[in-house]
Amino acid sequence: MSLPDRRTFYNGKAVSGGPSGPTFQSIDPSTSKVVCTIYTSSESEVDQAIRSANLAFPSWASTPPVERSRILLKAASILRSRNDELAKIETIDTGKPFSETSTVDVITGADVLEYFAHLVASGGLNGESFHLRDSAWVYTSKEPLGTCAGIGAWNYPIQIALWKSAPCLAAGNTMVYKPSEVTPLHAQLLAEVYQEAGLPDGVFNVVYGDGSVGSLLTRHPGIAKVSFTGQVSTGRKVAGAAAGEMKYVTMELGGKSPVIVLPDVDLEQAVDGAMMANFFSTGQVCTNGTRVFVPEQLKAEFERLLLLKMQYVRAGDLLDANTNFGPLVSKAHYDKVVRYIKHGVEVDKARLLYGGLGQPDHLPQSLRTGYWVRPTVFTDCTDEMKIVKEEIFGPVMSILTYSSVDEAVRRANNTELGLAAGVFGRDIDLCHRVIKQLQAGITWVNTWGESPAEMAVGGWKQSGVGVENGRRGLEAWLRNKSTLVDMGGSVPTVFSKL
Ligand code: NAD
Repeated sequence: MSLPDRRTFYNGKAVSGGPSGPTFQSIDPSTSKVVCTIYTSSESEVDQAIRSANLAFPSWASTPPVERSRILLKAASILRSRNDELAKIETIDTGKPFSETSTVDVITGADVLEYFAHLVASGGLNGESFHLRDSAWVYTSKEPLGTCAGIGAWNYPIQIALWKSAPCLAAGNTMVYKPSEVTPLHAQLLAEVYQEAGLPDGVFNVVYGDGSVGSLLTRHPGIAKVSFTGQVSTGRKVAGAAAGEMKYVTMELGGKSPVIVLPDVDLEQAVDGAMMANFFSTGQVCTNGTRVFVPEQLKAEFERLLLLKMQYVRAGDLLDANTNFGPLVSKAHYDKVVRYIKHGVEVDKARLLYGGLGQPDHLPQSLRTGYWVRPTVFTDCTDEMKIVKEEIFGPVMSILTYSSVDEAVRRANNTELGLAAGVFGRDIDLCHRVIKQLQAGITWVNTWGESPAEMAVGGWKQSGVGVENGRRGLEAWLRNKSTLVDMGGSVPTVFSKL
């Protein structure tokens, strides 16, 4: 498949003609073939995109929430009606199987759009008022911030774009969005969906490029907030640049999340959970539970069941409904994950239980040029191993054993990251006691990975600042104004005549 070029989109249209700047390409990771050329936004295009968003802001901010809501609901309905077409583009761009993109990526984005549209139309932007004393009262109002920058990671492109733009626009802000340079295809399509739904020109704009374009956004005086999803190391730079300009920030960063399998667990359930926590999206999920803590006495049975189920991981043609495992997103990321697998075998000397170097079994010849790795399980791991400590962001599970639940909790928390965590067990009281002690912003009991629109999600420690989704997710795009009204009839002053 070959798609039309992509160029900076602002004030309701993609720029056309003019001098051609540097370009980059979107590549189908399953075959390594080029599918689209993208023009890097120049500094002046970034400037114009921000200016168009700044100009659109006053009118959009003063549009009644119920009217903004109607437009966003229409956009959600267009997204749902075009689900399969958009999902196919996500599959080509990311390498995720269509069985996944058609059931998760676009749908969970549209869900969030509906959630915030309904929320602002039903009082979600109301402030509070209270009597201070008989002659005075205070009211507060929630005000939009202005033009906000959304900077996306490559793993959930359209979902990330929607998780940022939905609350941003619902709250009355305008946005300049930069998709990851690795998976940029969805951005213009989303801009067109918003436009078809009736979003005024300039409210949602798109710029393209790598970190250098991202940093034009984070430093620009016309940007009031930066909402960023990406690696911790990049997040530090982005948050630093934004904080220096007193911009609001939301940081959704990486993780190295623990799964704690409790001694009374239904092992079948725990194995299913651990597999979802490691191999869904070929392990390219920020909340992956890559450190799997298993009681010593259950290790042999856990591994036996896991090996049985590993045969259900099916690599293959991404549009085949039975394929549930794709390639890694890019050559650079493939090289990184392969380095970690090699390190696990050669330096960490963890025991390879399944997978390892090479391509998945039974991969069709036509896909052998893609960025495929085998789903991999290391066991007999220890906390000091590099594969256990660092985010790999690929399909690599580490099994660790423990002898007491307190020990498992202590070791699970022994990381500077704190994105997600979860427990599997039958004793629900114990599950809650463990969850209470785990240092992570997103936690699950007897399941893994579901992140509905109603649930606020965000990392603790180095995994981020702030949340997305849920009621608290709307607050992240608003600022507060408090007004004290005095009805006493005279202004209290110390400057009266003696
Ligand atoms: P990345 O940090 O390399 O890039 C993310 C985005 O930042 C890209 O758009 C990139 O162009 C831009 N960027 C790079 N340098 C910049 C700079 N100096 N200023 C402004 N922008 C800059 O991350 P990635 O490799 O695209 O994504 C994978 C990472 O994202 C993983 O660590 C994963 O855990 C994390 N992630 C987190 C969440 C979450 O919700 N917490 C969700 C998805 C992915």
